[in-house]
Amino acid sequence: MKQNLFYLLSISILVFGCQSKKTIQIDKKALLNNIKILSHDSLEGRGFSKKGNYKAQTFISNQFDKIGLEKVQNDDFIQKFPYTFSGKRRQRMFPIENTNEDFSNVPDTIVYGGNVIGKIAGKSNKTIVVSGHLDHLGIRNGKIYNGADDDASGTAALFTIAKYFKKHKPKHTLVFAAVDAEEIGSLGADYWLKNYPNKKDIVLNVNMDMIAHNDSNELYACGTYHYPLLKAPLQKNTSTIRLLFGHDNPNDKTKDDWTFSSDHRIFHKEKIPFIYFGVEDHKDYHKPTDTFENINQEFYAESVKLIIEAIENLDSSLK
Ligand SMILES: [Zn+2]
Repeated sequence: MKQNLFYLLSISILVFGCQSKKTIQIDKKALLNNIKILSHDSLEGRGFSKKGNYKAQTFISNQFDKIGLEKVQNDDFIQKFPYTFSGKRRQRMFPIENTNEDFSNVPDTIVYGGNVIGKIAGKSNKTIVVSGHLDHLGIRNGKIYNGADDDASGTAALFTIAKYFKKHKPKHTLVFAAVDAEEIGSLGADYWLKNYPNKKDIVLNVNMDMIAHNDSNELYACGTYHYPLLKAPLQKNTSTIRLLFGHDNPNDKTKDDWTFSSDHRIFHKEKIPFIYFGVEDHKDYHKPTDTFENINQEFYAESVKLIIEAIENLDSSLK
């Protein structure tokens, strides 16, 4: 009898203990392997309309298929879009190269970008779009810009998040968008949203861009200045990472405003609420040293878990 009582008591302590910190199970090894593949030299920095970028699209499409995501708009996970490159545009696009090359006489050419889109149908058609950008800066001056944090981290996270919600059915429909051409002006996100037939159903964009590299164990959720109702569900987070708010108030002169810094701005412009997850700029930002070796592996895994918990809380709290 006494023993039974003790047993019951210890079970209830165990249950109480678990309630305070939410346990999100992810396959950390697979997550790290995927970011490693996406930022590998063989993908040549995933520059827009370049061979390595197309390889990344195929890899992502195969992952979406394996996870069992549904296709969204056509019979392919990949949504191709045309883009006309003019000489002037090239000049504007590649200032980082510091090249003396004159593009003004280069004839206009049509190139193709590609977004990779999959979804999990929820109980409702109301939709949360979870995004990360698959492109990066490519090869410049003979150097590969691997873009491990920017944004192989957000792209690889899409697979882990999708796998999680295949097991834990969401209330909202979740669209997973690995969008192209962020680095040259969010062309992919823009094209996708313009052509998405069910735009009116989108209630939120959760964008991830640089979530794997921070030495202070800090991740920002940006956007609550514009959409204050999103703050409470995020504050429920039980992660060991310090989740900070900010970088979204144009009047706060102490921090730069990230409202327009990545693909979430495309949604914001259409008055669709967004939360953007990202870290402070670091020494490897937009450098060839943004490699797999230089991310914080433990931080990355925790940050993906934090974002899963955030999506779960937003999914259950949004009307
Ligand atoms: Zn980025």
